[in-house]
Amino acid sequence: MLDVQWAVSWIRAAADSVHEHRAGLIELDRVIGDGDHGENLDRGFGAVVEKLDGDFANPGEVFKMVAMTLMSVVGGAAGPLYGTAFLRAATAVGDSAVLDSARLAAMLTAARDGIVARGKADAGDKTMIDAWTPAVEAADEAVENGLAPEELLAAASAAAEAGARDTEPMVARKGRASYLGERSAGHRDPGAQSTALILRAAAESARE
Ligand code: ADP
Ligand code: MG
Ligand code: MG
Repeated sequence: MLDVQWAVSWIRAAADSVHEHRAGLIELDRVIGDGDHGENLDRGFGAVVEKLDGDFANPGEVFKMVAMTLMSVVGGAAGPLYGTAFLRAATAVGDSAVLDSARLAAMLTAARDGIVARGKADAGDKTMIDAWTPAVEAADEAVENGLAPEELLAAASAAAEAGARDTEPMVARKGRASYLGERSAGHRDPGAQSTALILRAAAESARE
C-alpha cells in the first residue's frame, strides 16, 4: 500500500542508494561536469534522512519536507531541480493517505513538469529529463493498462534506467555538460542516473 510509510521508506532507500552510488555519480559528473553531483545529492539526502523521524500525516507531507530540505541544502543545478520535483509531487498528491495508480502517474508527471518549468530542458538535451520523461510515459501506460501501483512503479523505474542509458550518445544542450558540446557524447548524464536510482528506490520500497 502506497501510504505514508511507503513514502518514508522510499526516501530512506533513495538516500541509501545515493550514498552507495556516491562515487559513481561523482565520476559521471567529473567526466562531463564538475564532479560534485554525488556529493551534492548525498549531502542533501543525508539532511533529509535526519528529518524522516518526524511526524508526517501523509505522503505529501514527506515530499514537502524533502523538497524544502533539498532546496536549502543542495547547491548547483540538481538541488533546485529535485526540490521543485518533490514540491510539485507534494502538490499533486495533496493530502491523500494512500496513492493509487492514477495519482502516482499524476505525481510523476507533476514532478517532471516542475523540472522542465525550472530548467527549460527538452527531451534529448541529455539531462535528468531524459530519465523522467520515459518514467512518466511508462506510468501513463500502466494506468491505461490497469496496473497496480507497485507494477506502475516497477515499469517507471525500468523506463528511467533505460532513459539514463540512452543519454550516453546524446550531446548535452543544458547544464554544465553543454559547455563540452560534442565532447559530451559517449558519457551518461549524472542527473539522469540519479533519477533512475531514486525511482528504483520508489519501486523497491513499494514491493516490501
Ligand atoms: P551542477 O551542474 O551545478 O554541478 P549537479 O552536478 O548537482 O549540478 O547536477 C548536474 C545534473 O543536473 C545534470 O547531470 C543534469 O541531469 C541536471 N541538469 C542540469 N541542468 C539542467 C536543466 N536545465 N534541466 C534539467 N536538468 C538539468
Ligand atoms: Mg556538478
Ligand atoms: Mg557544481
